[in-house]
Amino acid sequence: MKRPGMMIREVLGSFTKKPVTITYPALKVQMPDKFRGKIVYHAHRCIGCMLCVRDCPSEAIAINKIGEKRWEAIIMMDRCVYCGQCVDSCNKDALESSKDYELAALDKSTLTVDVNIDGPYPVAVPVADPPAADPV
Ligand code: SF4
Ligand code: SF4
Repeated sequence: MKRPGMMIREVLGSFTKKPVTITYPALKVQMPDKFRGKIVYHAHRCIGCMLCVRDCPSEAIAINKIGEKRWEAIIMMDRCVYCGQCVDSCNKDALESSKDYELAALDKSTLTVDVNIDGPYPVAVPVADPPAADPV
């Protein structure tokens, strides 16, 4: 247990130290290279092999054919656990973990995006919710 004298010294000492926190969002932390943030899909590299869909533990990604050698990814950021498995599974470097960690949203529907060669946009038709858990 700390004695009162030690505690006072620590309190007074903290006045001369820099704070350990930052004034987010005014200041933002630069994430390290291997950080697993928002998933980025490069549609022009995708061959529709579905390995990412098969390996995703959260059913957070879907790949749809939208034309001759054209694919789109539906990415459900609210289901994603940012494990990076889809990135590892993709042999074509069509998926990438970005350093973007600012994923909070007031409207959950904005967290499901359709990404294709023309760019990302919110999905108009809501995707089905995951099945309800069995009652215990
Ligand atoms: S990062 Fe993990 S949870 Fe998210 S889409 Fe990829 S495999 Fe699924
Ligand atoms: S694993 Fe890569 S190439 Fe295969 S469907 Fe997914 S994103 Fe496309």
